[in-house]
Amino acid sequence: MSSERTAEVVICGAGIAGIAAAYHLAVRRGIGGVVLVDEGPPLSLTSDKSTECYRNWWPGPGDAMVAVMNRSIDLLDELARESDNRFRLNRRGYVFATADPERARGFRAAAERAESLGAGPARLHDGGASEYRPAPAEGYENLPTGTDVILDRALIRRYFPYLADDTMALLHARRCGWFSGQQLGMYLLERARDKGVRLLEGRVERVDTTGGRVRAVTVASAGGARTLTTPRFVNAAGPFLRRVGRLLGVDLPVFCEQHAKVALNDVLGAVPRDAPMLIWTDPVSLAWSPEERSELASSDAHRRLLEEFPAGVHGRPEGAGESTAVLLIWTYETAPMEPTFPMAFDPSYPEIALRGMTRVIPGLGAYLSRLPRCFVDGGYYTKTRENRFLAGPLPVEGAYVLGALSGYGLMASNGAADLLADYISERPLPAYAPAFRLDRYDDPAYRTLLDQWGDSGQL
Ligand SMILES: Cc1cc2nc3c(=O)[nH]c(=O)nc-3n(C[C@H](O)[C@H](O)[C@H](O)COP(=O)(O)OP(=O)(O)OC[C@H]3O[C@@H](n4cnc5c(N)ncnc54)[C@H](O)[C@@H]3O)c2cc1C
Repeated sequence: MSSERTAEVVICGAGIAGIAAAYHLAVRRGIGGVVLVDEGPPLSLTSDKSTECYRNWWPGPGDAMVAVMNRSIDLLDELARESDNRFRLNRRGYVFATADPERARGFRAAAERAESLGAGPARLHDGGASEYRPAPAEGYENLPTGTDVILDRALIRRYFPYLADDTMALLHARRCGWFSGQQLGMYLLERARDKGVRLLEGRVERVDTTGGRVRAVTVASAGGARTLTTPRFVNAAGPFLRRVGRLLGVDLPVFCEQHAKVALNDVLGAVPRDAPMLIWTDPVSLAWSPEERSELASSDAHRRLLEEFPAGVHGRPEGAGESTAVLLIWTYETAPMEPTFPMAFDPSYPEIALRGMTRVIPGLGAYLSRLPRCFVDGGYYTKTRENRFLAGPLPVEGAYVLGALSGYGLMASNGAADLLADYISERPLPAYAPAFRLDRYDDPAYRTLLDQWGDSGQL
């Protein structure tokens, strides 16, 4: 039982992680007395800035990432079904594209690797009669999983005529798409509140851990400080995970990177409204006229625009009905930094992202002579070194962490919160649980693996 001054579980952070934790504890595990604390409105920090995409397309080592994402997507499917798809889940897939023969050959191996990790079957389309079916714009039921690799250029042109002419291979990962993160979060929060979860506005400033276990949490708000007696505390503080970890005397091995997205109005329709998520997997040299080139070459501040930019520019259409919005993301700088707000973004980012995406979709080049009005926003990816999140117990009894959800926290939040709820409700844990515990770093074999870690799966 809980009163105003006591709780069974206090969760710090009402982003998607904290809200999903409250939902899984209260609604799916029947735990009472859950209090969700945030110093701002729910879902207003990082969880408001996402591109809102999801995928079960993840690298190894091991199958833990694919397994937890499959679980998370199973939960998204269930939630979509029971809510009449209130958060507009679609399954358009992620289409990775290349104009590089070497990379094109690698697509086949990548699809087979993904199959071995549990992402679903690899299908090859390299000419002749093809079973390839593009994804419908809406809906998520009864659609293929796995990966289609298209090496037949006629097939590419038939279904993706808007891509660059020299595109020679596509990899279409199918159990992927996007949804409204705000709608999902609000749905989970409403369900959680129906089951008695309390939302408290204020900043968690102190956690009493006398005797090595959680005893109380002090929350400061406009009305003054309030102390809640509780045996359990969940750190779901997003970019402030490390800071809140210190309240428990635990130094969490996480850091933050700034990531931004551009929204532009594609009034010319360069990106079809039913397009999937599109990712260019080759590095890109931005196209400039000879005059622009010599001007850029003479400027210390802008010379870098003549250099090759890393692979990974991506984008998708956003919104239903009459919407002409297109979202673009291209992360070419990933220096770790202290999270500070409000954030400032490179003023040249929209033009760079647009020029990069023009390599994939030449029709976007129509906007380069006169840039359309663009809107830029973003947040921090809070990450561990190998880009795998943290969900599980901390070395203080009764303390837990749910964070470091990097650039995939909306898609992973249900799987991660479901895992955390298993710990708190003392249920049997899934096989992937050890991959996301903090104490994995105590294992010498894991530390050796970290030194040889390859692809982190970040787009
Ligand atoms: C540009 C961009 C694109 C992205 N695209 C995708 C995508 O396509 N798909 C996807 O799945 N993910 C994406 N993400 C990642 C996703 O947005 C994050 O992983 C997710 O939102 C993290 O959620 P969170 O709850 O951990 O953090 P947050 O949403 O930041 O929530 C943390 C909360 O904790 C609160 N808090 C912190 N400290 C305290 C304290 N001491 N007291 C009280 N409250 C406190 C904060 O106020 C905040 O509300 C993207 C992120 C960015 C920035």
